[in-house]
Amino acid sequence: MGEVNELIKELKRYAQKENIPIMLDEGINYLTSFIVKHDINSVLEIGTAIGYSAIMMALVNPKLKIITIERDETRYLEAVKNIKKFNLEERVIPMFNDALDLRLDDKFDLIFIDAAKGQNIKIFENFAKNINDDGYIITDNMNFHGYLDIPEEEIANKNLRSLVSKIKAYHEFLNNHEEFETEFLDVGDGLSISTKK
Ligand code: SAH
Ligand code: MG
Repeated sequence: MGEVNELIKELKRYAQKENIPIMLDEGINYLTSFIVKHDINSVLEIGTAIGYSAIMMALVNPKLKIITIERDETRYLEAVKNIKKFNLEERVIPMFNDALDLRLDDKFDLIFIDAAKGQNIKIFENFAKNINDDGYIITDNMNFHGYLDIPEEEIANKNLRSLVSKIKAYHEFLNNHEEFETEFLDVGDGLSISTKK
């Protein structure tokens, strides 16, 4: 375990140095507890980055299998290396793909969306059919570092403003969904948890 903790610290240091937006401690603690509490045995993750969240999820449940998708080649290759370091190649399967171009047939207990914030609606729609009837879709960064609370006209940067409006649209989309109901949690950078009605 000592060695595992050292490897985790190393991942976090690398992420910080390379400016890779891995989950905040509070968010990852919530997610891993959620996996244990709800006996989650299969996960589809959108947004691997360097594999940190996938590895953390796999470590809390030895039965857990994860497919995780990353579109950036450098990060994907880094994730492949990291998954090997933790000896998790059998259970954590990284895929080098753009999630929007990928169709899957498998069903999962949990889909974790942590990719391009402006694509959340499309990603949700693409994979909603891949969730088990009593499964969950969790999305990260729902609070977007507090930007959602600032009046949009006060956000000077145009790209940032557009992203904020897309995240608000995703909130609306979830609130008005016919098949899913969603709970919003002020944990980490904000999480949403959607379940089938
Ligand atoms: N879940 C990771 C952090 C993911 S950061 C962790 O907490 O450890 C978000 C990642 O999503 C980035 O690496 C980005 O390249 C990837 N991404 C964004 N849009 C994507 C898409 N459409 N398909 C696949 N990966 C995507
Ligand atoms: Mg995130």
